[in-house]
Amino acid sequence: MRRMMAKKILVIAEHRKGKLNAVTNELVSFAQKLSEQTKAEIEGLALGYPVKELSEEFAKKSGLNVIGLENKNLVFYSAEAYLLALREFLAKERYDFIIIAHSATGWDFAPALAMALDGNFISGVIEFKPEPVRFVRRICGGKILLEIEPIPEKISVLSLMPGAFRPVEPKTQGKVKILNLNLPELKTRALGYLEAKPKSLNLSSAEVIIAVGRGIGGAEKLDLIKNLAGCFERSAIGASRPVVDAGWLGLEHQVGQTGQTVQPRLYIACGISGQIQHQVGMNKSEVIVAINTDPKAMIFNLAHLGIIQDIHKFLPILIRKIQELKAL
Ligand SMILES: Cc1cc2nc3c(=O)[nH]c(=O)nc-3n(C[C@H](O)[C@H](O)[C@H](O)COP(=O)(O)OP(=O)(O)OC[C@H]3O[C@@H](n4cnc5c(N)ncnc54)[C@H](O)[C@@H]3O)c2cc1C
Repeated sequence: MRRMMAKKILVIAEHRKGKLNAVTNELVSFAQKLSEQTKAEIEGLALGYPVKELSEEFAKKSGLNVIGLENKNLVFYSAEAYLLALREFLAKERYDFIIIAHSATGWDFAPALAMALDGNFISGVIEFKPEPVRFVRRICGGKILLEIEPIPEKISVLSLMPGAFRPVEPKTQGKVKILNLNLPELKTRALGYLEAKPKSLNLSSAEVIIAVGRGIGGAEKLDLIKNLAGCFERSAIGASRPVVDAGWLGLEHQVGQTGQTVQPRLYIACGISGQIQHQVGMNKSEVIVAINTDPKAMIFNLAHLGIIQDIHKFLPILIRKIQELKAL
């Protein structure tokens, strides 16, 4: 029989070494929207070893009641350990929606979880539509939006695109319950993390992103972009794919379909044409300013403020003006 109303939503915390990742609160924000429509109760779930501190942080930052699943196999992330723990937990608890970040770990275990639960799996969700409940994702390089209605009788595992939903501000603090699981030995054992070189930026938490495209003309000219970024607190440098492909900036700077999805308060696109694959990563920015010599550049279709200018002439003036204003 078709169930008319979903009852429970589970949000799985994204964390690294026991520290909650900011995307987790975006998952909670999405869950709240879904809950308004489905009247479903939301619970949080954290997996780790030890898991108490992480669960408490999650309950505090989300306002949700959080269950912490603890087992020594969960000391490092592995899909095998996550699946064993989740299958054990979900054998006793029934949820209608399980919400996971569309991240490196989410990609790794979410499809297998949906298979194990014989559920719906919808990846890269960017939007939710009510009555009947449908989820929207991008396909064909972001050119087409696909609306998917899950089979309501089945559990739905959803992986959410980071940056697609604004994080929540909790009003209350949730409670924490820790469950110690008995899990079999793993077939593979993670030995630890190899840290990447520290990055100078975190695109997802920047309030201002100065994004640079092929129009900059070469790595040796990037100081202009760095100087503009230096004018703002909490700023970061974004890049279009050709800039990354040319090796002018690292992959961690790339915005777009094969890079990151961002929604800063201000996005300044410098010498970027604004192809759809770039747009899908930044079109939810609060204010978009584009500087481009080509009046027909696609970026001007979505920019709130468009400046038809050579960045090499315009940016030094802009930087000087901002510095003068800051010195007042
Ligand atoms: C499967 C797939 C995935 C992709 N994923 C991504 C992705 O994640 N992110 C991404 O960005 N792209 C992605 N792309 C590439 C995308 O299609 C575009 O090629 C790319 O975004 C263009 O980058 P750009 O705007 O820097 O370069 P161009 O399109 O070459 O544009 C450069 C712009 O700079 C302007 N310009 C030149 N000189 C100046 C100057 N002196 N002052 C001001 N303006 C100037 C030009 O008028 C032009 O508009 C993907 C493509 C595919 C097929």
